[in-house]
Amino acid sequence: MTSVLKSRYLFNVELSKISDKIKFFIENFMKDKEDKLRQQIKFKLDFQKKEMILDIIFKVGYPHSILFNLRNEIIKNFGREYKLSVEKIDIDYYEIEFELEKEPLKEISIPFVDDIAISGKQCKIKFNKIMDQNFVKKGFINRIIKRIKEKIEQQYYAGKGEYSEILWKSEKKDMVWDLDPSKEMLKKSWIRQAKTKGKWFFGPQLAKIIRGLKNIVFDEILIPMGFKEVIEPHHESFSTLLKTGHLEGVPMEVYYVSEPKTRNPEEWELFIDKLKISKEVPYDELLKMISPPNAINCYVQCPNIYEFFSGRTIADAEFPILVFESSAVSNRYESGGRHGIERMDEFHRIEIVYIGTKEQLLDVKEELIKRYSHIFNDILDLEWRMAWVTPFYMQQSGFLGLDDETQRIKGTIDFESYLPYRGSREESEWLEFQNLSIVGDKYVKAFNIKAQKLDLWSGCSGVGLERWAVSFLAQKGLDPENWPEKFRKIVGELPKPYTFY
Ligand SMILES: [Zn+2]
Repeated sequence: MTSVLKSRYLFNVELSKISDKIKFFIENFMKDKEDKLRQQIKFKLDFQKKEMILDIIFKVGYPHSILFNLRNEIIKNFGREYKLSVEKIDIDYYEIEFELEKEPLKEISIPFVDDIAISGKQCKIKFNKIMDQNFVKKGFINRIIKRIKEKIEQQYYAGKGEYSEILWKSEKKDMVWDLDPSKEMLKKSWIRQAKTKGKWFFGPQLAKIIRGLKNIVFDEILIPMGFKEVIEPHHESFSTLLKTGHLEGVPMEVYYVSEPKTRNPEEWELFIDKLKISKEVPYDELLKMISPPNAINCYVQCPNIYEFFSGRTIADAEFPILVFESSAVSNRYESGGRHGIERMDEFHRIEIVYIGTKEQLLDVKEELIKRYSHIFNDILDLEWRMAWVTPFYMQQSGFLGLDDETQRIKGTIDFESYLPYRGSREESEWLEFQNLSIVGDKYVKAFNIKAQKLDLWSGCSGVGLERWAVSFLAQKGLDPENWPEKFRKIVGELPKPYTFY
């Protein structure tokens, strides 16, 4: 394997007088690097007026890693004496050969690269000209190589979804019916399809059921465990999502937010004219008047919560920090997967977030599971189960060892309910109606949240209110006569549906 880099350093002065000195210096610099990198480095050096032309050949690793280091060393040694500075470094050609962990299953493409050739586990990429120094300085090349490896890895787990292992299962319960609650509620006019995609309007009956579920979460979890309410903005900025990774993870699932370019009514005149005359939305004008998106509608609530604490050092005594958010409404572009109120583009969730030491979070997790179990077993009387889920890629890359008890602390537990209308317990897909995660230090690091002395971890648990409702209604039906006594009391009498003719 060899990597070849052809570069040109442009100096501010003619180099003829000092080229010998620089050459001698570079020879020593390379010897030093050879020792450090434990490999022979071949290089070719030439001088033309203000330019130093340097070719570097590595057997292992990436020659660009020494480009700026060399520049700094030259300036350090000759800068003052010869009033020397480097104006820019151009790369005329760069060819990198590196080893892959796996052979790709099909062709891959990657931007910024002029040519990519893979044979077996050997990959060679070529750049014909790199004029922008920042390309190298900001780490593009290293991330291109990382991305190539990641894309090949993805080919192996594509379609495999996640690994799931059932941790606990409730006893079998008698099901009141096996109908789809969304369809039945639609027939009874409890809900109506909204004008926007994948969204529903909840009439007074379902709204009251959801209110009852919300009250349970408050009374059984949030108040007794001392969670404090916060209210966050409904939009999540791109800058926040760059920290959490959501923008690279789910760009196809979010609703983007655009601002008007101006709020000067005069500039909107043509748009308004066309609208008033045609009675249709003039999209051509509209697109001219809005800015590219710079935020999304809430996808999950925790990023903005982390943003509140970001860059702060928090007193040790404050931990564990326990907060919840139930004001922002979540939006997801579900496209083909939409189904009734259990899979919709807009839904309501109470997100519970905890930040503290590992030990504190373990206690929180245990207490939450105890309280959730009480709700599902004793109040809602559900048939449900808990599953330990690991995204396939994490399992493969060894992030989470399922056999390792200490590793199990991190990760996500899905709570799943049986929906009789989908088929038998064994063959149908159960509904993930909420989850509980501990993410380790991933987000506290990304948002630079610190304690005075403690090492912080964080985690969250999302209570999907519609999914709670579907789980309950699919098992217990729409008639409160068939509901468990405790829940019937919490909800109270359901309002009579409106009479429509
Ligand atoms: Zn979260």
